[in-house]
Amino acid sequence: MAVTVVVGAQWGDEGKGRVVDYLARNAAMVVRYQGGNNAGHTVAVGETELKLHLIPSGILHSNTLCLIADGVVVDPAVLTQEMQTLRAQGISLDSLRISGNAHVIMPYHRILDALDEQRRGGGKIGTTGRGIGPAYADKAARSGLRIADLVSDHFLERARPLFAEKNHLFQRVYGADAMDSEALLAEVAGYAGQIRPFVCNTTLLVGQAVAARQNILFEGAQGTMLDIDHGTYPFVTSSHTVAGGACLGTGIGPRQIERVIGVCKAYTTRVGSGYFPTELEDATGERIRQRGAEFGTTTGRPRRCGWRDLVALRYAAQVNSMDALALTKLDVLTGLPTVCLGVGYACDGKRLNHFPDTQAEYVRSEPIYEELPGWDEEITGARRLADLPANARRYLERIEALAGVPLMMVSVGPRREQAITLQ
Ligand code: GDP
Repeated sequence: MAVTVVVGAQWGDEGKGRVVDYLARNAAMVVRYQGGNNAGHTVAVGETELKLHLIPSGILHSNTLCLIADGVVVDPAVLTQEMQTLRAQGISLDSLRISGNAHVIMPYHRILDALDEQRRGGGKIGTTGRGIGPAYADKAARSGLRIADLVSDHFLERARPLFAEKNHLFQRVYGADAMDSEALLAEVAGYAGQIRPFVCNTTLLVGQAVAARQNILFEGAQGTMLDIDHGTYPFVTSSHTVAGGACLGTGIGPRQIERVIGVCKAYTTRVGSGYFPTELEDATGERIRQRGAEFGTTTGRPRRCGWRDLVALRYAAQVNSMDALALTKLDVLTGLPTVCLGVGYACDGKRLNHFPDTQAEYVRSEPIYEELPGWDEEITGARRLADLPANARRYLERIEALAGVPLMMVSVGPRREQAITLQ
């Protein structure tokens, strides 16, 4: 496995959790490198289902070091809550490490997220409202606070003027109420003691693990199409979700990455706003939503559903230098008379086989479909490709051929064993 990055190949929610879970069994280290507590993983611990939004799911494997690296933004309230939940389940946190360089999501970032979204009105981005975008904005503006600040003696002194600035902004620009700065400040400062023991130089740890030829798994959050630069801007997240983000968010050099696995569903989903060419706003879309339980783990919002978009997948293969593809939720398509693959776009009378140059062209693009026959047979028990009906195999073969990337896993049900592993 060596140094592997797992990335989402669409707009997030691809089922990365199960692929990470599968690979984490052999990993000495699992690293989160971007995003914040908007990555929802559901993991089964015995009879209990745990929802982790920030701490890597590798924490369940006692020999796996779990890092929250420099590029992540950390909400101390959420982090300490997850720590408590895990401890209550008897799960040790001894293997957790948090970068002092990771930025802190402050209470005013959450407020700002909501105020910004209200102000955008009809042009809403559809953020999860967790303060992640504003925290990254402050980081880029060099007015952020890092975990190292939170656990230091100078935290109150540094944070107090920032609260005052944000109150000024809330009242003068947004016409909103002022925060009770001192109460919120005391709350955030109160988390420092619980977090301090886990803070360290994670870049050093990753570097040592690379030098020791250990298996390292970089766990991407969200998906390629939500990348701040390479996604469908402005309907994107505020970080680098592509595989290169693993370098930026941890300090590993680009040539150290040995394998990139992209995860996508057998169909496409999207949460929030923004154009989605292969979206199905009909009974088929609704059927996929219900059968696939397409409601956000973190927010509960219904996800928009549509056919598998191969133009987007080819693009994801390129920008991530994807070596292999893990395709999830094939079982959800069972029972459909035909299944379609978006193989190109029609834009201004021309056929495009690649992603359009501009957002304006993208929004004018209509999908061109290849129709394939569906299958009725139950496939949740399939463990080898040969167990799948011929039409399901043909569907997978077309995806592999059109994406130009070999499959390494196909999942056919939510349970750990409901998967066909190919590499
Ligand atoms: P992530 O954020 O990319 O890990 O994705 P989510 O956690 O939002 O989505 C994964 C959801 O899909 C979980 O509820 C899984 O139990 C479910 N799931 C994953 N793989 C399959 C599959 O092959 N079939 C079905 N029916 N459900 C799956």
